[in-house]
Amino acid sequence: MTALTSELPSELLRGIDLVTCLKGWGRYWWNRNRKEMYHLSKPIQCFDAFLSHDWGTPGWMKVWALLLIFNSVPAAFVALGVCVCTCSLLMVGQLPGGWPTATISIYVSFLVILIFWQRIRNSLGCRVPTVFLDCVCIAQHDEELKKAGIQALGGFLTQSQELLILWSPRTFERLWCNFELACFLRQNVASSGKFQKRIRLVPLSMARLLGLAGLTNLWLWLAWLVWVIIESNAFLPGLAVLLASVAVLGPSLLGQLSLQTYLGMRQMQDFLDLYEQLGNFSVRSASCTCCLMNHQTTEGQRILCDRQQIFATIKRWYWTENADPEHHLDHFDKVVQTQLLSEVKSALGIGIPPLQYVIAMLGVPPLTLIPPYMHMGITQTATYDIAGPWWQMMQWMMMAIHVPAMAFLIFFINMFGWHIGLQLRRKHFVSMPCSLCLVMWLQLFVLGSVWCTFAYFSFPKEPWRLIPATCALWAVVIGLYLYAYRHLAKNQRKT
Ligand SMILES: [Zn+2]
Repeated sequence: MTALTSELPSELLRGIDLVTCLKGWGRYWWNRNRKEMYHLSKPIQCFDAFLSHDWGTPGWMKVWALLLIFNSVPAAFVALGVCVCTCSLLMVGQLPGGWPTATISIYVSFLVILIFWQRIRNSLGCRVPTVFLDCVCIAQHDEELKKAGIQALGGFLTQSQELLILWSPRTFERLWCNFELACFLRQNVASSGKFQKRIRLVPLSMARLLGLAGLTNLWLWLAWLVWVIIESNAFLPGLAVLLASVAVLGPSLLGQLSLQTYLGMRQMQDFLDLYEQLGNFSVRSASCTCCLMNHQTTEGQRILCDRQQIFATIKRWYWTENADPEHHLDHFDKVVQTQLLSEVKSALGIGIPPLQYVIAMLGVPPLTLIPPYMHMGITQTATYDIAGPWWQMMQWMMMAIHVPAMAFLIFFINMFGWHIGLQLRRKHFVSMPCSLCLVMWLQLFVLGSVWCTFAYFSFPKEPWRLIPATCALWAVVIGLYLYAYRHLAKNQRKT
């Protein structure tokens, strides 16, 4: 059986830019059999990323993961810039429409950049990453071209700077995904395990969870804003304010916690499955369509076995002198089980999302509260009239500063809950609804305790109580995150 070639004829080397890849809400991820798609790709020299994915996972999850990876951090920076500009204008009384303009601008700028960042870069003449997407870069309309493209898949991989694996539990069960991995990893075999080219593995469940966390966080702080406006304008008397706040905040907080906890527990399970899959990796157990079809088309024509071709190629890459005729397959398995597993573990740690995406998705909604708080400071809206007008402004600013700390704290308590929930399910065999209920009560208890402690020490919001209480809250949050992301520091030391 002949091995697949790594030599790619230059006329077949075609890629697409990220703008096209994400166009029309990622329409090319939905339907891979559109014949006109090949004409979207252009001849190129090399790829920034080879996108490895399986067709069994919904397209929207992959498109969202790409938006998160490539656009979320720039979107957060732009939202921060818009916040600084609009708040400066608000301070000098030059912002048309007042604080609502500022709040809406921050939200809108974040969403626009999150969705259209690559298109904006392209129209500004900046370079946009070029990627390989199988259904567009390999011809679907011409059987000969399609066959030549698949046969030379190794050539596409050789020309890629990075292998970006959009991981789902199905990924490593697919033989072609394993072939892509084998091609990328072989360069590390000869270089004492140091990764020459980057392999980035992004679990799609993690991306989905962060999207949900961003959305619910946005809803929570919008509800909070409504509460602040009601409270500061004294539309309602004391007890009614309390009831109204519980009515507005309660359901949103409960909804946020329950859905995030459920998806968080599933994500933690996915991480364990991923580590287990890599630890017990066996290329022999991966499936491919040809074998499932018994090597015959529906019309009864015989087709070549991809498995034999792929194994022959792995033999070319991984063979070392050994009596065992299948030694190369064991060698490849070993590289995945040791080198790749250790690389993935040090990048993803215990299964919590990468810090830059957490900050980008959770940091923006609290930014939108700065303009209304600033407005209340400027108009001297009274909360507790203790230290005179100068303190009114400072007091509202301190309140604005404590909001992101609370947002990050809630997410941390969530992450802590996912771990507890997973342990309950795995070690004590507690059912999903029961562990969800237990974890949610625990989360609410912890959150309530921290909140009440903060409220107790900061009340009645005089300077020498509110300032240290806010600083202490931030110190706790930073300490907790440093602890949760300690594997990143270990990584830094290693490299
Ligand atoms: Zn086969």
